[in-house]
Amino acid sequence: MKKSVDSSIRYLKGIGPQRANLLSQAGIRTIEDLLYFFPRRYQDRSQIIPISKLRPRQVQAIKATVLARGEKRSWRRRGFNILKLAVADKTGKIFCVWFNQPYLKDYFKVGTELILYGRVDTYENQLQMSSPEFEIISAENKQGKEAKIVPIYRLPEKFTQRYLRRIIENLLKEYIPQINDFLPYDLRSRNGLLNLAKSLINIHFPQDPQTQKQAYQRLAFEEFFLFQLPLALRKLKKRERQGIAHKVQGDLVDEFIRGLAFELTESQKKVIQEIGLDMGRALSMQRLLQGDVGSGKTVVATVATLIAIQGGYQAAFLVPTEILANQHYKNIKSQFSDLKLQGRRLKIALLTSNINKKAKERIYKGILNGQFNLVIGTHALLEEEVKFKNLGLVVIDEQHKFGVGQRALLPKKGNNPDVLIMTATPIPRTLAITLYGDLDISVIRELPPGRKPINTEWITQEKRKWLYAFIKEALNSGRQAYVVYPIIEDSFQLDLLSATKMYQEFKDNFFKEYNVGLIHGRLKQAQQDRIMGDFKQGKIQILIATTVLEVGIDVANVTVMVIENAERFGLCQLHQLRGRIGRGGYESSCFLVSDTTSLDARRRLEAMVNYRDGFLIAEEDLKIRGPGEFFGSRQHGLTELKIANPLTQMQLLKRARDEAIKLIFTDPQLEGRQNLLLKEKLFQRFPGYERYISTG
Ligand code: ADP
Ligand code: MG
Repeated sequence: MKKSVDSSIRYLKGIGPQRANLLSQAGIRTIEDLLYFFPRRYQDRSQIIPISKLRPRQVQAIKATVLARGEKRSWRRRGFNILKLAVADKTGKIFCVWFNQPYLKDYFKVGTELILYGRVDTYENQLQMSSPEFEIISAENKQGKEAKIVPIYRLPEKFTQRYLRRIIENLLKEYIPQINDFLPYDLRSRNGLLNLAKSLINIHFPQDPQTQKQAYQRLAFEEFFLFQLPLALRKLKKRERQGIAHKVQGDLVDEFIRGLAFELTESQKKVIQEIGLDMGRALSMQRLLQGDVGSGKTVVATVATLIAIQGGYQAAFLVPTEILANQHYKNIKSQFSDLKLQGRRLKIALLTSNINKKAKERIYKGILNGQFNLVIGTHALLEEEVKFKNLGLVVIDEQHKFGVGQRALLPKKGNNPDVLIMTATPIPRTLAITLYGDLDISVIRELPPGRKPINTEWITQEKRKWLYAFIKEALNSGRQAYVVYPIIEDSFQLDLLSATKMYQEFKDNFFKEYNVGLIHGRLKQAQQDRIMGDFKQGKIQILIATTVLEVGIDVANVTVMVIENAERFGLCQLHQLRGRIGRGGYESSCFLVSDTTSLDARRRLEAMVNYRDGFLIAEEDLKIRGPGEFFGSRQHGLTELKIANPLTQMQLLKRARDEAIKLIFTDPQLEGRQNLLLKEKLFQRFPGYERYISTG
């Protein structure tokens, strides 16, 4: 019977119910899973070294015959078994040992010829390989076929390399003849891709390094391509969707820009123009705005809200924290104080979950009857009770703080409103267009002028005294400081300084003569607001905090940022925290306090010292953590990429994306005969794709 790729592996040669079970625990259930279970690395056994030429401390392959075999139990450790083999070729002799694998002895009869591959060492003045990989040269693979590049897999429980290799070899033999390449021929030849059958064979059992590389390219391309197709389709659908043609030219925007205390940077102007063009079209804008911390994204977003408002629409501004919602509310309210629409002042609502029920109901009503032109809020905005009269624009600030599902909720409250998504965790453009394949992208490249660079230092606990003296000096000259801790309260499990405890210390000891404040996410909203207000007015000089400061907080007078136990924070998080200072015209300093010995943590701290640019920081973070961790598994199908690496293969990724868009834009339903197999593949890979493709 012909087996299809999604039949169970259970009935394959060499696999019974028990082994099928073990494999399924490793995520391998179907024939396809097994075909796509790629080697972790390879051993090159094609270079056979004569025994007399072996060099110690290197991994090498030899071809030799078994001279003698012995087995002993260790007298030192009970139940410890050592299998020792003497093997020789024409040039010399070497010993091989295996520990606790007594069953191996059946393979090694005297006179057996084999290939051995492993690390060579000297032991008691003799050459020895411990636990080498081996392969018996039997009659059937005698013709020089045995020396080759051998795959090494991440082993499922109770499997050996040898055994896994054999079942995959069997599977390939049986299955390859009936394999059809689902990538259309034209596309393959345009991109110089190997066909599927040859790729699968060569990814497992490469005939030579070049072919292995080609196989890898093809399979990586395939992964990227399949990952991009649904995004391309989404992009097409959004493009076709009717949206609002906003009134881009108007008094409100002009007046607002004229009233600003500063001149917009060239980058800001360019981005505002891109947004304006987009909003003016009768299509629904889906745009991602990338810009480093402090690059001035808020003012750009505010202009976008005014474009919507001056045409009579409402705008919504979603932010991740209450502090940030408050800050935006206060700033924008004062910036809007002189603006009028048809003789009436603009009305802004602040909606967070801490507002009492009565006030909330009043706000709901005002949003529904169109009284409010702009609503700024946290997750509270997403609640069902919030209904708009005519929502024309949605802004989502610090988008990485929201899940995909949450981001999708707000736009649904309008009739295809325009959407502007902002992020301060910029990533390389190629990667961005790929991950957010359905979005258009704008980038703010420069920081506003007059910013003094931030001096960043990594210091150890030892320098604490010096550090406190440094802070005092800053406070004495009228500046302010943040000190950030990884936890709110002391904990039994973690040996870390906590914000609450240190607040007491600062207040009662180190900084007795100064005004010390404490802020963290467990304080009541009103309390947080009061503290931020006092800090902004300078009534608090030194603010002890947790990562509530991470996003958006904007107080220009602060020149010192101390991050305690800095090893506990992610790289982008550290960069965000640092972005809270250096906002005025003063020199400022960021101190990362850490005694860590962890390699990854040291890399992060070094990156902070060496890089100031958020784009470089994000790239470094991506490299340290890998894309799956970096973006979080919830957000993207990235963790499902098995061999394709979007960081090192950006060119391939870009080509795959271009091909996906070309294909979807010319044949969205995949009706062309050359695309039928691909369509089948997509339906199998993405349940629901079928429905998606046919609904308008
Ligand atoms: P982010 O991009 O991190 O959200 P913000 O929008 O909070 O940055 O802007 C940081 C600070 O820079 C704010 O105080 C803002 O008023 C100020 N700012 C924005 N644009 C300019 C500009 N063109 N010139 C001077 N200051 C600016
Ligand atoms: Mg911001």
